Amino acid sequence: MKVSRIVGQSPDVPMIEILKYRQSFYEKAYDIRVICEENETQDSIAGKIVAELKRYQNSSGYVSTRDLSKQPHEIKFSEAILQGLAPDGGLFVPNSTIAKFSEKQLERLVDLSYQDRALRILEKWIHPDDLHPTLLQNFINMAYSEGSFDSKEIFPVRQLEKNQYLLELFHGPTSSFKDAALQLLPQFFVHALQVLSRTSTRYLILVATSGDTGGAVLDGFSKYTGHSGVGVLVLFPENGISDVQKKQMTSIKSNNVQVVGVNGDFDDCQSYVKMAFQDPLLANMLLQENNCKLSAANSINWGRLLPQIVYHASAYLDLVKERVITIGDEIDVCIPTGNFGNILAAYYAKEMGIPIKRFICASNANNVLTEFINTGRYDIQRRRLVKTISPAIDILVSSNLERYLYHLSNENSYLVNSCFGSLNAQRCFEVPPDILKKIKSIFTADWCSEQKCHSTIKDTLKRTGYMLDPHTAVAKAVGDRFNNGKRPMIITSTAHCDKFAPEIMSFIGKTESKDDLASMFRTLQEMSEFRLNQRVPHFFFFNIRFRKPIRKTRKHSTDYLKKKNVQSSGNQRWERIHCG
Ligand SMILES: *Cc1c(COP(=O)(O)O)cnc(C)c1O
Repeated sequence: MKVSRIVGQSPDVPMIEILKYRQSFYEKAYDIRVICEENETQDSIAGKIVAELKRYQNSSGYVSTRDLSKQPHEIKFSEAILQGLAPDGGLFVPNSTIAKFSEKQLERLVDLSYQDRALRILEKWIHPDDLHPTLLQNFINMAYSEGSFDSKEIFPVRQLEKNQYLLELFHGPTSSFKDAALQLLPQFFVHALQVLSRTSTRYLILVATSGDTGGAVLDGFSKYTGHSGVGVLVLFPENGISDVQKKQMTSIKSNNVQVVGVNGDFDDCQSYVKMAFQDPLLANMLLQENNCKLSAANSINWGRLLPQIVYHASAYLDLVKERVITIGDEIDVCIPTGNFGNILAAYYAKEMGIPIKRFICASNANNVLTEFINTGRYDIQRRRLVKTISPAIDILVSSNLERYLYHLSNENSYLVNSCFGSLNAQRCFEVPPDILKKIKSIFTADWCSEQKCHSTIKDTLKRTGYMLDPHTAVAKAVGDRFNNGKRPMIITSTAHCDKFAPEIMSFIGKTESKDDLASMFRTLQEMSEFRLNQRVPHFFFFNIRFRKPIRKTRKHSTDYLKKKNVQSSGNQRWERIHCG
């Protein structure tokens, strides 16, 4: 059939004009998008449409990595978001094959904005029945707006030196890459609550933070006070985070958030959260007394990982746009890794068709992942967490590794159960040789000492004029060792250097007063020539606001936490969380 005219259009208007005109309507009202390739034949387009329709019909939900039943129990996207952690202790993963972009489809994304790329990528993961594209588009536009991010590109890529590029993920409200997910997750969460909550159940989100998650969660969720039915409780290691991080967290003003300092390290915080989840008494008490359930916003929550896939893909497209590479060329990524969320998102981006050759996993002195990727043995029996100046990766139990092992072993939940059961009981596990071989075929890992981290920051500053934050410096130091000099390497820059100003000051020979953050920021700014924005980072103005002392203590909650050796930070006390 030859279509030469569409009803309602005059006959002499060319088809291309008609389609262009209609595109604005399609963009507002569609359930499934089919991305066509340039000069694609009608047959091939028809094939794509059929394939998309099949995906739409067969679309499956989410399952736990530890579900051993023959027919794993599936839940919907919204439930996965609300529950955070599966009841069996596993993590939720999609129970369907990952949608892939062809090179020619990727080509069509090159000239799009970050937000438009995000929509096209996230649509592939979220079924329109779970979250309609029209809403998703609104959420994306709200999350990645110029009001929240101080860069028009949202996450710009810039050349650091030679074949090394920095993916700057710190332009959001709390100046770490956590904002990428946490400006979007609260919208998923509140939407899920509306979709699923027939009763008026409220949710208390428990968060363990190694420094940056806390601030980002608080910023993201504090916009949803009032009727949202969501409250947030953050546990942070009292002596394990930077000054600026602590100020950010303890100064956010909102009636649905609370922060508690824990006498211990990040792994303690994380295990308290996991314990709370698995405590039926606590669950019962919350439900009976407060009509409230617990949830998680750590990177164990699927909704945290999803938005992170986008910036890895987008960085690749940016390199294509800048003509550093052409579509199809391979790149390496180098990522300072703690809980394995960021690097796992990069792995998902590769599964979607982004040609990433090597994943370089960079650790600090807490180098359990280096050992694991090199030997297949994950062993924390004799390890103690070491405090470093890259505190966000001071982690020994790297949660998202579980998802990676699940995928790598072809969804073998027996293997996952045996590994993580053994990690719990014996504090170590070892993967079979075939799995190790698979890991090594794409992953490389190494670590960076404190000394090396200091010198990397100083040397890079001297050579390039760019001031790295300590986490990015860990990645830079490790990336240099595996740089083949040709293939472009994207180093993810996970935090703004100002966030660690006092720590950096201490070894670059500047002696600003320890309390005068403003002058430290100025000094750092003056030292580096290489600034995208001359603006002082957001958090300096918005988040560092000191809160009035809190009035009341809620008794049984305090008792519960005392039992678990959790203590309040300074003069702040645990108080009742208002879930809307
Ligand atoms: C959270 C964080 C990391 C670690 O990311 P994972 O996804 O947990 O591996 C690295 N750098 C900074 C600055 C962070 O805040």
